[in-house]
Amino acid sequence: MELFNLQGKTALVTGGNGGIGLGIARGLAQAGADVAIAGRDEAKNAAAVAELERLGVRAVGLIADVRDDVQAREMVRQAAERLGGLDILVANAGTNLRKRPEDYTPQEWHHLIDTNLTSVFACCQAAYPAMKERESGKIVTIGSMTSLMGFDMASIYAATKGAVVQLTKSLAAAWAADNIQVNCILPGWIDTDLTRRARQVLTGLEERVADRTPAGRWGRPEDLAGAAVFLCSPASDFVTGTALPVDGGFSSSLF
Ligand code: NDP
Repeated sequence: MELFNLQGKTALVTGGNGGIGLGIARGLAQAGADVAIAGRDEAKNAAAVAELERLGVRAVGLIADVRDDVQAREMVRQAAERLGGLDILVANAGTNLRKRPEDYTPQEWHHLIDTNLTSVFACCQAAYPAMKERESGKIVTIGSMTSLMGFDMASIYAATKGAVVQLTKSLAAAWAADNIQVNCILPGWIDTDLTRRARQVLTGLEERVADRTPAGRWGRPEDLAGAAVFLCSPASDFVTGTALPVDGGFSSSLF
């Protein structure tokens, strides 16, 4: 399947040491890409690198806090240096704090904006020169169901994820002529550390999500791999600026 072949390609997945990021990193590695993953936790990085290497590709772990602009840009530079270029960026690192809007502090606002939005822009901007030089590139950002809908317990998160979609469209428009495609994946409810924390504070969430999702179940990190490989491969060379739900039908059904 040449259309989906990533052999000889190099990828950076931010937040690739667990959850959705690792699910995507596995998919890219299975399609043949060498992969750098980045996060703050050294032990999680080491475990992810070992797992990716077992898939037969080169894997690199990078320590970075993407809230810090300097660290985010240095992380992209190091990924390109250690892998010998950068063909693919998956700007996945993100977090959430669940509260009613009236309860957030200004510090929490900045924490979420910096982690989920400013970092995405910094990583994309830092990746652009290497991709332009190669005359090709694939960037995947990660939105959410809250890119499309509001959520009383996640107002700041929803603001960041709505903005990520608009940023994606603008980068796609700006860089299409450089043969760089920029697309967003909108995951539904996926079983990860992030949503395990949500299930601890939101009563009945486990069952409500399964009931509300037409597929009748929570998503798993590996459910994101196929969409990511498509958006990072030659199969999507004329696809740019899109936001693709991977949600078991959640966003397209009233019940
Ligand atoms: P997890 O909490 O399971 O994983 C988050 C990843 O991001 C970890 O690898 C973590 O690494 C990294 N990360 C978080 N903050 C930082 C930071 N400041 N600097 C560097 N790395 C960071 O979350 P998910 O896998 O669930 O989420 C991944 C993405 O998918 C996020 O953008 C999230 O908003 C989005 N998403 C998730 C959904 C879900 O249902 N799970 C639904 C819709 C969107 P480390 O701990 O080492 O820093």
